[in-house]
Amino acid sequence: MNIKTKILDANKENDILEAAAMIQKGQIIAVPTETVYGLAADARNINAVEKIFTVKNRPSNHPLIVHIASFEKISEWAKDIPPAAAIIAKYFWPGPITLLLKKSDSVNDVVTGGLKTIAIRVPQNEMFLKILHLLNTGVAAPSANPHKRISPTTSQHVMSGLSGKIDAVLDGGPCNIGVESTILDLTKSKISILRHGPITKKMIENVLQVPIYSPSSHLEKVPGNMRAHYQPYTTTSLKSLGEIEKQLSLIKNQEKLFGIIHYSDLQYTHKNIKAIKLSKNKTQYGKLIYNALHELDKMNADQILVEAPPNTGEWDDILDRLSKASVVKI
Ligand code: AMP
Ligand code: MG
Repeated sequence: MNIKTKILDANKENDILEAAAMIQKGQIIAVPTETVYGLAADARNINAVEKIFTVKNRPSNHPLIVHIASFEKISEWAKDIPPAAAIIAKYFWPGPITLLLKKSDSVNDVVTGGLKTIAIRVPQNEMFLKILHLLNTGVAAPSANPHKRISPTTSQHVMSGLSGKIDAVLDGGPCNIGVESTILDLTKSKISILRHGPITKKMIENVLQVPIYSPSSHLEKVPGNMRAHYQPYTTTSLKSLGEIEKQLSLIKNQEKLFGIIHYSDLQYTHKNIKAIKLSKNKTQYGKLIYNALHELDKMNADQILVEAPPNTGEWDDILDRLSKASVVKI
């Protein structure tokens, strides 16, 4: 399949209208969200939703998140909605947290990967929200990258993975947050985090006033829950600063090329290195981590070494994504 991928400009009103019209027609287009770029299709149009799975090469049992314009629309997609949903929506929507609820009978199984539950979110990105308000439907949108690869945080990342396979990309500049949404399961008596994200366990506990579970491994069908995911093509390892410095000091072959992502001061004498220093501030770091991985992955290095993030709850999402990026080859 090779089609012309149109580039639309999210700062132009007409291009936003065109993006909405394309989704309405059953086309699939990449759109900016505050987390990562999403590959959007009308969640009520099964042909369009099926195209998402084909284009991403995503297994059909991996459910999609449905994006809606506001909390008021939630009952079109979910049923038996617990009071906690309204509290989360009040404090964090529009924003980077997705709720897992029982799906309404009208939602086609293709969207939910055959499950009786549905993941729903109101995104914060203004351009995407405009599109959702223009459409009289929800929009299914997984990350706009080939299955298991690094999520895109710019339209260039989207094009490098899916150019020629999707109808358009709406360029809204770099994503503001840069890490996928938190996924919170509200279908059981114990509320739990299925995927760590920008809204942390502590933030959720503060507003719900109940303990939130975050099993380190669980059996739920959450695509982001596979052991290997978010992977660069280059072998990637997560190590402490000391381990990275030690590894570099032991390399004899100066031809070997290393990509490094770090946030502490790093000492090395090895010549063939491209190092990207990110901020120690979690928010700033999150915005740029996928871009750094995309940049280093382009170099065909022998290895990418990533300094392990601080072991505090605030960094849980980054630790999760980097651990999955560095699982031995898939
Ligand atoms: P992505 O494909 O990167 O957008 O991620 C979508 C996320 O939503 C994955 O982690 C999915 O597991 C999660 N998700 C969507 N629907 C469900 C569902 N019904 N049950 C569990 N997780 C879901
Ligand atoms: Mg993804």
